[in-house]
Amino acid sequence: MQQPSSLGDSAAIATLSPEPLSAELVIIGHGMAAQKLLEQLVTLVSNRRLAWPVLVIGEEPCLPYNRIQLSPLLAGEVNVSSLTSQTDDWFKRHGITRLSGDPVVKIKRDTRQLIMLSGRRLAYQRLIIATGSRPALPLSLPASRQAWPEGLMGFRELKDVEQMRVACSKGGHALVIGGGLLGLEAAEGLRKRGLDVTLLQRSERLMNRQLDDTAAGLLAQALESRGLHIITNAHLDQWLQASDGRITGVRLTDGRELKADLTVAATGIRPEMSLAQAAGLRCQRAICVDDHLRTSDPHIHALGECCEVDGETFGLIEPIWAQIEVLARQLLELPTAPYRNAPLATRLKVSGIDLYSCGELVPASGDEVLVYQDFTLNDYRRLLLRDNRLIGAVLYGDVSAGNALFEALKSGTPLAEIREDLLFSPEEALERLEATAPPPSDDPNTALRDTAHTPPDSLEEAA
Ligand SMILES: Cc1cc2nc3c(=O)[nH]c(=O)nc-3n(C[C@H](O)[C@H](O)[C@H](O)COP(=O)(O)OP(=O)(O)OC[C@H]3O[C@@H](n4cnc5c(N)ncnc54)[C@H](O)[C@@H]3O)c2cc1C
Repeated sequence: MQQPSSLGDSAAIATLSPEPLSAELVIIGHGMAAQKLLEQLVTLVSNRRLAWPVLVIGEEPCLPYNRIQLSPLLAGEVNVSSLTSQTDDWFKRHGITRLSGDPVVKIKRDTRQLIMLSGRRLAYQRLIIATGSRPALPLSLPASRQAWPEGLMGFRELKDVEQMRVACSKGGHALVIGGGLLGLEAAEGLRKRGLDVTLLQRSERLMNRQLDDTAAGLLAQALESRGLHIITNAHLDQWLQASDGRITGVRLTDGRELKADLTVAATGIRPEMSLAQAAGLRCQRAICVDDHLRTSDPHIHALGECCEVDGETFGLIEPIWAQIEVLARQLLELPTAPYRNAPLATRLKVSGIDLYSCGELVPASGDEVLVYQDFTLNDYRRLLLRDNRLIGAVLYGDVSAGNALFEALKSGTPLAEIREDLLFSPEEALERLEATAPPPSDDPNTALRDTAHTPPDSLEEAA
């Protein structure tokens, strides 16, 4: 399917020549991580043209866009044109060549070349893999099918939203499989576009990794009151199929058959590491990188959802921004601290429903759980404390204290002094605590821990 023309479906195509096109720095994948990295490089050189040729190759046939905004786009809350921040002119001005709609199919590490689907060859000095993730399938596909059959889709790309919008124009019933952030946002978007939507969640509650029973119950109540059908403890048995192979719904293990005109799988993501695996780079759940985003090949970095650091993979933008900070400075030979995994906060993007969750959910023995609930205002707060320090928070309704609590969680500040106010006026209490805290000591070891990485010679010269 074609992408909407407002995002520029005319790829910047380099002239085909028998010699491989060559660039000092080549990025595979032009999603959120790649684009932010380019913008960060440009910022670090004070908005000037980059000193070495950069080439970025995207499989999607359009300008890079804000994938996070696909949810509001599906819900009809934003226009497609607001999803992209840069024009073709921006790339030209900064010396970046953009190739799109032509994926890389092979990395030849011995000659430092890439082969694209069109057969074009590219040479690199330094390579960054930023291929993101693919939607995971909740059940294996019907026999002999490689690609997703008609009637079944993921929620990952702009073309998915385009396809859903077409489906919505015909009306009917949709099944969304997965009661996490993505599934809820897909279900609510489809419902707002007029489909009758049933959401299937395998666990006994929605967002089971982020919410406790009470918050998940409040969320389910709010969504059901809008007309969404929710089935929890829904275990899939098999796909229902029409004679032409089209997916027409699912059968659950309890025998129930749920028919749908459109089925959306939102049951997690699978890091896209196939190129890296085929090229012999070290991979586990994703492409293994060290704390400077280096793969097992010194000429290749990996970034974003396709990589794994210390056994952790990524599905939210915040840690990826931190990776970019490390990688961009490294490419420009600026001193940089290593990348470290850190706790994450989650927010749902469904308008009219505010919830915030960060840190741990399940108390260990000796932990304290503080709970506040206002039944009239549908306001709920649950804080998890260990040794008087915040280790987890769930907020539903009034989430204004979310960021302040998250900061307190990350800093590990002792909260005994403000314990009594922590539930009722957390922001004010935390501000008060901060105002009375002694200034942080200047520990040179915490500022810059590592500046040791040296890039290949050619980049060194160019920088
Ligand atoms: C609907 C939706 C809502 C989201 N909401 C939030 C949110 O509220 N908050 C949040 O923090 N995160 C959210 N996320 C997650 C966030 O979008 C991702 O974490 C982020 O996009 C990851 O960036 P990335 O560059 O690693 O991967 P991507 O943005 O997926 O980019 C990877 C790109 O690589 C391309 N590619 C893959 N293989 C090849 C190849 N062989 N050759 C060339 N190109 C290739 C892909 O086509 C893709 O364009 C959301 C995601 C979705 C789908």
